[in-house]
Amino acid sequence: MLIKEKLPPLFNFDALPEPTYTGNGLTDQDVISVSQFDTERLDYIFSRAGEMRELVERVGSTDLLRGRVLACLFYEPSTRTSASFISAMERLGGGVIPITQGVQFSSVSKGETLADTIRTLEQFSDVIVLRHPTVGSAQVAADYAAIPVINAGDGPGEHPTQALLDLFTIKEELGRINGLKIAMVGDLRYGRTVHSLTRLLTQYDVSLRFVSPEILRLPLTIMNQVIDAGIDVRETHDVADVIKNADVLYVTRVQKERFTDLAQYEEVKNHYEITPELMAIAKQDMVVMHPLPRVGEIHYAVDDDPRAAYFRQVRNGMYIRMALLAAVLGKA
Ligand code: ASP
Repeated sequence: MLIKEKLPPLFNFDALPEPTYTGNGLTDQDVISVSQFDTERLDYIFSRAGEMRELVERVGSTDLLRGRVLACLFYEPSTRTSASFISAMERLGGGVIPITQGVQFSSVSKGETLADTIRTLEQFSDVIVLRHPTVGSAQVAADYAAIPVINAGDGPGEHPTQALLDLFTIKEELGRINGLKIAMVGDLRYGRTVHSLTRLLTQYDVSLRFVSPEILRLPLTIMNQVIDAGIDVRETHDVADVIKNADVLYVTRVQKERFTDLAQYEEVKNHYEITPELMAIAKQDMVVMHPLPRVGEIHYAVDDDPRAAYFRQVRNGMYIRMALLAAVLGKA
């Protein structure tokens, strides 16, 4: 009979050291506001986004999120945000429920509340991306859902994933964030991308210039956050005041859908246009960005200028959203 004379001691799992990996802090979390992102978390997302870029360029897709489902629920129009979330999920091997082509075709048009729609979608999915016209709606949805909710724009409130991709783009284009002079142009009052990006930038050593018509100035609460952060900040009505020194020109559309008085919109809608003539006085390595869609703020003749980064910015959105989905779904 072959009996081992001496068995080796049982492996003692209790003696294992505590794992040092603490995760990225985003797993199972909602993404509602940029205030959830400190510089450490931003660096994490940016480096994961860089990996996602490599992955897509090398092999196109992976099966990291195979078997997971994303519900995309959009109560407002979208091209880039919805398409990039869908593409991100599919490139990670997951599936998508796309309610993006108008909630009028869903039970929302029958009068279903946001709460009930969210509680329904969470039965089928692992994460919900929500765009809604009301400020605070993403938080309301998150309060009802047991699965993570990602804010894809809550009215004129925030658009955190856009701000992440904007900041990532600045870093990719110019190699740094600290020390830059960043000018934001256009509808600073209603532009949620401006609100989120400005809030993120308060964590960095940057100078900010805000260029808008009087009625579209940055809301005071956000301006106060900028001032409290000790940032060098100025406001003006004229792009020509800032373009010579700017490292980044972040141009935005006047948000027609937020105006109650359309005559007021008409007054300010054509206030700015970035033209080749204006570009001629800008720095050679300045970067022009725009969250898009543009409706006349940047002349088409600027598109061939190597400083025009807005379509590279769009692509970066996919990498950032891949990184975010993987993190939220625990594939850090
Ligand atoms: N696409 C961006 C947003 O959803 C910018 C815009 O619509 O002007 O906020």
